[in-house]
Amino acid sequence: MNLGELKVPGPTRTALTVPFWAAAAEGRFIVQHCADCASWVFYPRQICPYCWSPRLEWREASGRARLESWSVIHRPGHPGWEPAAPYAIGIVRLAERPSMLSHILTAEPRLHLPLQVRFTQVGAEILPCFEPQNE
Ligand SMILES: [Zn+2]
Repeated sequence: MNLGELKVPGPTRTALTVPFWAAAAEGRFIVQHCADCASWVFYPRQICPYCWSPRLEWREASGRARLESWSVIHRPGHPGWEPAAPYAIGIVRLAERPSMLSHILTAEPRLHLPLQVRFTQVGAEILPCFEPQNE
């Protein structure tokens, strides 16, 4: 189904996450990167969880990931998602190291499936979803 037709709530924006969602709306995948220890950090934070540096900067990430865990949703927690069920939600391990919870755009999820980000209209929002990498 076309996920853009769903009537679902969008993400909650905070001062810290506005850059992430603004980039997503432009089809850019950015993740915080620590200027002191070079770690990539997700979810967005005020300080680096590895070295406590406050010097986190937004940087373009590869958008490549592998599927670590997933669940196929048959009974959504919000009624707006019912037209899309069944669909897969999963934890993806980004090539840069952090993990992220996302919508998985495949009917056949499997462990370590190579994925790439795909910006997708979901309801009124453009969200970073993940699809199998092109072979
Ligand atoms: Zn750091």
